[in-house]
Amino acid sequence: MIDLQSIINKIYNDLTSQKNKGIVASYIPELSKQDSNSFGIHLRHINGDTFSVGDWQTSFSIQSISKVLTLSKAISLVDNNIWKRLDVEPSGNPFNHLSLLEQENGIPRNPLINSGAIVVADILLSHLKNPKADFLNYVRVLADDDSITYDEKVAASEKKTGFKNYAIANLLKSFGNLKNNVEDVLDFYFHQCALKMSCEQLVKTFYMLTNKGKCINNIQHITASQAKRINAIMLTCGFYDEAGEFAFEVGLPGKSGVGGGIVALLPNQFVISIWSPGLNTKGNSLLGMQALEQFTTKTNLSIF
Ligand code: GLN
Repeated sequence: MIDLQSIINKIYNDLTSQKNKGIVASYIPELSKQDSNSFGIHLRHINGDTFSVGDWQTSFSIQSISKVLTLSKAISLVDNNIWKRLDVEPSGNPFNHLSLLEQENGIPRNPLINSGAIVVADILLSHLKNPKADFLNYVRVLADDDSITYDEKVAASEKKTGFKNYAIANLLKSFGNLKNNVEDVLDFYFHQCALKMSCEQLVKTFYMLTNKGKCINNIQHITASQAKRINAIMLTCGFYDEAGEFAFEVGLPGKSGVGGGIVALLPNQFVISIWSPGLNTKGNSLLGMQALEQFTTKTNLSIF
């Protein structure tokens, strides 16, 4: 039996003493207030065991990790129709890249880059009665936790400086791949990114993706086949132009956010979440990437 608690303790201790902790995102001004010394790890095994160290109960801005949750909600509503407006290929480009979208006539490469997530947000706006409240409720049910909220300050901060996202949404609109108003879609998108959650809450929310579509309370939210597909998209597209590197170093489906969070999972075994706000040059948590590389190397727990 592997001693998972000792392994994560060792990774935590080794990495907290490392000098280079990456750079906290500042293009969303509110995120620059984060402390680059924050660091937490939480893991939940499918047998119910949990392992934690550091700031695993502190909530942070989940940012692009939310793209997986809007995707799962949209798939549960429209199933395969979603793929009429989106592709499933890695982009090899940064998350907010623009020119590929124009070359490919307004069809985003995948749902985990900004353009794709903005189309998914548009789909939710068309299908949910009260999009922001209904989506928040969906996340609360998945996590079995009603205390989860949007951080209005972060949403407002991104609204002020999200020029690239406005450009992306306008480009999508010009190609007819956005049905609702640019303002309304982006208001929803900035809120989903501003969800505030801890490593523990994220692990519970993503549990359905390791458990064939059944959440922590055993409710079937998506089919096993839909969970399989979402995991495949996380593996190939979850880390933008570092997706290959993440598969190579870590070997798990996962998703990062510029708040410094990463969630990764091994189907039918466990979900792990790490938070360390300092980012590498590709916008992924520097210590988070290193911690997961060490974790799968030390435990040999990866899909490969
Ligand atoms: N809200 C951020 C943005 O659109 C999310 C980016 C990210 O986490 N990679 O720029």
